[in-house]
Amino acid sequence: MTQCFKRFGLFERNLIQEKSKTPFDQNKKLYKSVVVDTIMNHLVKIPLAVYISFPLLQRCLKIDRSAAFTMPPMKLLAYQVLISALLEDALFYWSHRALHNPFLFKHIHSKHHKFHNLTAYPIASEYTHPIESIFGNIIPVLAGPLLLGMDLASTQIWLWIRMLKTSDAHCGYDLPFSPFGAFWPLNSARRHDYHHEKGVGSFGSFFVFWDQLCGTDAAYLKAQEKKKKKEETKKY
Ligand SMILES: [Zn+2]
Ligand SMILES: [Zn+2]
Repeated sequence: MTQCFKRFGLFERNLIQEKSKTPFDQNKKLYKSVVVDTIMNHLVKIPLAVYISFPLLQRCLKIDRSAAFTMPPMKLLAYQVLISALLEDALFYWSHRALHNPFLFKHIHSKHHKFHNLTAYPIASEYTHPIESIFGNIIPVLAGPLLLGMDLASTQIWLWIRMLKTSDAHCGYDLPFSPFGAFWPLNSARRHDYHHEKGVGSFGSFFVFWDQLCGTDAAYLKAQEKKKKKEETKKY
């Protein structure tokens, strides 16, 4: 979808980074590598991981195949999604922060940071080292469903929300209709985009709690303030 925005010049005002040319555009090798990684993730790695961990999933999740597409009660679903998002955010924040340790960054997380400019490439969210995929993505995402013993339908809905969230964070646009950064304490696409551009701070996923509590969004806030002042000076 964001490729269409870029091609037809839609939502240009909502582009987060000014330079719309990305290293990704200019690097066909990286492009091929991301596409291959995404195909491998969805056709091989994820099915294999589900197959291997099926006994654990079966024990913790309420796996009732006949009720797989039955909607759970709305109140229960909202509670489960909220707890899953809080757990995911905490585990993501701390694992992501740990991945910025120089050694771990060099050997693991630098792969994901090959994208400095995310403009129109939400697929960048898929581009991670296998160790990062397991400890920084899969475990945080499945923590809620496993601990709460969620049923398949609720788990599916939660996974869709998480997929949309990570695509939003990596799309390079601060879209006006996006609910993910609509109000405090939700974490906007701007913060994760800044994290990719500069490689510092703003480690959170769904929320800004941890970044605010630990002061790891100081560089982002300073940059936003600077940008605001620059725009105000331009007006006069
Ligand atoms: Zn990072
Ligand atoms: Zn990212």
